[in-house]
Amino acid sequence: VHLAASDAVVRLTRWADNFPGPGVRFADLTPVFADAEGFSAVLDGLIACAPDVDTIAAVDARGFLLGAGAAARMGAGVVAVRKVGKLPPPVLSRSYSLEYGSSTLEIPANGFDLTGRNVLVIDDVLATGGTLEAAVQLVELAGATVVAVAVVLEIEELRGRDRFVKYPLTSLVKV
Ligand code: AMP
Repeated sequence: VHLAASDAVVRLTRWADNFPGPGVRFADLTPVFADAEGFSAVLDGLIACAPDVDTIAAVDARGFLLGAGAAARMGAGVVAVRKVGKLPPPVLSRSYSLEYGSSTLEIPANGFDLTGRNVLVIDDVLATGGTLEAAVQLVELAGATVVAVAVVLEIEELRGRDRFVKYPLTSLVKV
C-alpha cells in the first residue's frame, strides 16, 4: 500500500519553486489525486495509520479531499477543520504561523460535540507543522482523543515532526 502511494506521489507531484513566496518549494498533489490508482493508494495508506478511528478531522482545503475519501471508505465521520471566517459563530479558533505567513483554523463551538471520539487528523503536506498542530488542538478542545496524525508528504527539513512527539505521525512520503 505504502509503496503504491509513494510511487504515485514521487511520480506525479507537481513541484513549484518560490510559490506562494520566495524560498518555498511548493508540492502540488493535484495530479496524484487526479490519478485513480494514486488517489486510492494514498487513501489506503492514510487509513492504515489508524484503521479503527470513528472520526477523521481534515484540514482546509486539500485535506478535505483526503479526509472525506478516507472517512467514506472506513465508515467514519468527517470533520472539516476550516480556515477562519468560513463557519458561523460561535467557533473554537487556533492561530498559528506558517512557512509563508500566518493563519487561523476553526471548528464549531456549539451543536457539535466530539467527546469520546477517536480521531485521525489528516492533511496533504507537513511543512513546519503549525497547521496540523492547530488542528490537533481544536479536535482536543472539542473533547476528542487524537489517535494519530497522517499526511501524504512530509518536508523533513522544516522539522514539523518535532511538534508531534506525543502523537503517532505517519507520512507516506518524506522529502
Ligand atoms: P505547515 O503548517 O507549515 O506544516 O504547513 C502545512 C500546510 O500548508 C498544509 O495545509 C499544506 O497544504 C500547506 N503547505 C505548506 N508548505 C507547503 C509546501 N511546501 N508545499 C505544499 N503545501 C504546503
